[in-house]
Amino acid sequence: MSNARVAQEVQLVGMDISEMETLAAMHDELPFRGKQLFHWVYKQQVDSINAMNTLPSSFRDLLADEYVLHPLTLIKKTGSDLEPTQKFLLQLPYGEKIESVIMEEGKRVTLCVSTQVGCAVDCKFCATAKMGFIKNLTAGEIVDQYLLILNSINKRITNVVFMGMGEPFLNYQQVINAADLLNHKEGINLSAKRITISTVGIIPKIMRYTKEGHKYKLAISLNGSSQDQRLKIMPISKTHSMNGLIQSAWDYYYISKKLITLEYVLLAGVNDDIVDADRLMDLIGNLPCKLNLIPYNEIDGPFHRSSEEKIERFVNRLERANFTVTIRWSKGTDISGGCGQLAVLDQESCN
Ligand code: SF4
Repeated sequence: MSNARVAQEVQLVGMDISEMETLAAMHDELPFRGKQLFHWVYKQQVDSINAMNTLPSSFRDLLADEYVLHPLTLIKKTGSDLEPTQKFLLQLPYGEKIESVIMEEGKRVTLCVSTQVGCAVDCKFCATAKMGFIKNLTAGEIVDQYLLILNSINKRITNVVFMGMGEPFLNYQQVINAADLLNHKEGINLSAKRITISTVGIIPKIMRYTKEGHKYKLAISLNGSSQDQRLKIMPISKTHSMNGLIQSAWDYYYISKKLITLEYVLLAGVNDDIVDADRLMDLIGNLPCKLNLIPYNEIDGPFHRSSEEKIERFVNRLERANFTVTIRWSKGTDISGGCGQLAVLDQESCN
């Protein structure tokens, strides 16, 4: 199917159950046809409208004429030689490209999805930042990463993390809609505990997320042990300060009673000293949380991965902390599929 057609027509992936019921009613079908359509798209995950054989053939013909199933096209799949990790290049209806990554660890198969084409946040260590911001993805374009990749790997995806290209909370409503579609009992039915939304720390959106009481796991990228240090690598700290972030994490805990995850990318000579570990313990204090340390995945730029010795010393120092500390070694760094390495610089948008 040509991209031009996908761009012009309404896409089924991305619609929720009530939108599909409305669609059915619009075409003089009973509302339960909308529910059947929802099942075919998200539960049966069929690859074509023709395969939806409980729908009347006249309705299927109309759907095939006026709608398209998938907003995205899978263009390329690259496997890592080092780990069971695969990177996927996908194209949007108007030609822009995004990347998603599948990482396997035992029975756990995690899909890392993108939420924007490029990113406006400009974290100094991140490859996506070099693209600048191009556009937000729709909920359908986010969920379609799951559906197309699932189809191509023939393995159950056990976890989804919103941690690919883009800042999820700068595309808040579409991200929440996508998480709701992944979690919907009558569709994909992925447990809320297996869906993680990772933000760089957009404080008003963390407050909104807390107030709305979403069940998905929340992670905040801290990446610095003081306001000044964080400001140098994450200019967004100017408007979303370190203290404000920690306060919002406490509010999240008080209201949701859920553990938050704090992410900390270890950058050699920047934030990986014993002093940083001490400052982190002071900053985080008794906040019920998990701290994920992520050894940096190098891209073209001034930052480097901390030595193993330095990482070990940092982790040992944190032994006295009141929170759990884990190290997350990124997968697929040989295919630039590690955390912070995703970028598609040759965007050929026809938008
Ligand atoms: S780390 Fe995340 S928020 Fe920061 S520039 Fe990269 S994609 Fe954007």
